[in-house]
Amino acid sequence: MKEGRIVKVSGPLVVAEGMTDAKMFDVVRVSEKGLIGEIIELRGDRASIQVSEETSGLGPGEPVVSTGQTLSVELAPGMIESIYDGIQRPLTVIREMVGDYIVRGVDVPAIDRKKKWSFTSAAKPGDRVSPGDLLGVVEETVLVAHWIMVPPGIEGKIVELKEGEFTVEETIGRIETSEGVKDLCMLQRWPVRRPRPIKKKLPPVEPLVTGQRVIDAFFPVSKGGTACIPGPFGSGKTVIQHQLAKWADADIVVFVGCGERGNEMTDVLMEFPQLKDPRSGEPLMKRTVMVANTSNMPVAAREASVYTGITMGEYFRDMGYRVAVMADSTSRWAEAMREISGRLEEMPGEEGYPAYLGTRIAEFYERSGKVICLGSDQREGALTVIGSVSPPGGDLSDPVVQATLRVARVFWSLEDLLAFQRHFPAISWLNSYSLYLDDLEDYLKREVDERMPAKRRQAMKLLQQEAELQDVVKLIGVDALSSEDRLILITARSIREDFLHQIAFDEIDTYSSLKKQFKLLNIIMVMHEATKEALARGVSIDKLQGLRVWEEIARAKYIPEPQIAEIDQIKERIEAEIEELLETEG
Ligand code: ADP
Repeated sequence: MKEGRIVKVSGPLVVAEGMTDAKMFDVVRVSEKGLIGEIIELRGDRASIQVSEETSGLGPGEPVVSTGQTLSVELAPGMIESIYDGIQRPLTVIREMVGDYIVRGVDVPAIDRKKKWSFTSAAKPGDRVSPGDLLGVVEETVLVAHWIMVPPGIEGKIVELKEGEFTVEETIGRIETSEGVKDLCMLQRWPVRRPRPIKKKLPPVEPLVTGQRVIDAFFPVSKGGTACIPGPFGSGKTVIQHQLAKWADADIVVFVGCGERGNEMTDVLMEFPQLKDPRSGEPLMKRTVMVANTSNMPVAAREASVYTGITMGEYFRDMGYRVAVMADSTSRWAEAMREISGRLEEMPGEEGYPAYLGTRIAEFYERSGKVICLGSDQREGALTVIGSVSPPGGDLSDPVVQATLRVARVFWSLEDLLAFQRHFPAISWLNSYSLYLDDLEDYLKREVDERMPAKRRQAMKLLQQEAELQDVVKLIGVDALSSEDRLILITARSIREDFLHQIAFDEIDTYSSLKKQFKLLNIIMVMHEATKEALARGVSIDKLQGLRVWEEIARAKYIPEPQIAEIDQIKERIEAEIEELLETEG
């Protein structure tokens, strides 16, 4: 490949001339140091290159060589438990080699080349296979069986398939294709900016169960869906992310930490590996891949990081897994895009962001989905994307937030005001939304309870009425309200405190199954109906408010899963206590 020469350096952007053989999006090596860059604009033989490593000290005249390949990730056993930077360099390995600072141009493969994995075949010679078909499996960690798939683009008859101990580059078998016999190994590559192919997208009709009541019952996300979460400082974003990573029924978690301040990211890097997978008792990292970019790492690597993360997520989805990709924060990613666009002197759009901001954000979220994977066994996989946004000053009219809300179908409005009031999770029941409610209704009716969607609507309506009544109370005081309205306030408060409020650190409260969620919500609604009727029959609102059974309702969420049938029994106590009241009053 013909060498080019640097003519200009501007921060992360390097301009080189003489790049006659290069193509758009080629990865290039810049200067003798071999810094990694990507061609993002090409005019004749003049290439603008976004360099993912620190460019200080570079100058005109230094060589630039195209590798002829686009920015790709390596996919093979060894990804789980890794912490990568935005261009998939293994941070933990690099740190062991060279200390805390990434030395420029270091060439460490993303996947360990020496480690041997025990490969068990799942196909046999003579089988005709096409992309996505399963060749065999490696136990990557105690929690993840890593399926080795026929890579996209390869099709034919297996002529040999071995078993035993192999490195990711050693030949595990051979396939006779129309272009001759090809060797197979466990390592695949995939260009990060291109979605991995699937057979078919499926409708989002199954919830991603998180065990967090405000999410599952009120603002659910589907498996393969998309959600957006803003996180004002101190509002509990970290706790929510940890809860989701721990409890959501996803097999694999890909966490992309994108450009938060250096020390915040260090927190994430320190904390995440400490988390335990509650179901297995193993470290959560045993089913997690992390991509981490602090704001002091090069901006171009940050721009690439969300693609690196989601491509790894797609790969595990292709195996038939339910994957959750969590990107925090996509605002920092968009800022990286803006900085590079500015250096290219592109025409700026809103707030200096490039005009293609919305397209890029949409393309990212559109890589989510519940799908039928490539391969002949019709297996299903799902990739759910949960992106956080951190607009300056918490301003939701910010272009990144707005572009995200146009594509993400769930919005969990984390609010610091609720956190100040110690209402956790601090997700507003008034400002959040989920556009999956209709899609998920059948599932909830079938798998949880026929009445679940109706109870949710009823509860939601009471909360909205509460908000309106509170405005009235602020003006003229609670005494001016009718007894019926006061009852609405009492029930709504119970919905907030006894249902939505959920303590992440309580052993039992930390997770509620959907069945338990239904029972908890149902008992509050049963109480509401019973007290409403008693009110109509002349019992005073103060007496109803003073019923002892409210305490039982409040404690119900601490009933362990195996005993949740007890929640239904509260109904009898409600009836008995109200009966008693009616007798004494009557
Ligand atoms: P952020 O990441 O938004 O700055 P954190 O996630 O660290 O905020 O949360 C701040 C504090 O709020 C936590 O230390 C914890 O005490 C409290 N908190 C947040 N969520 C919950 C929850 N679900 N249950 C109990 N406490 C919570």
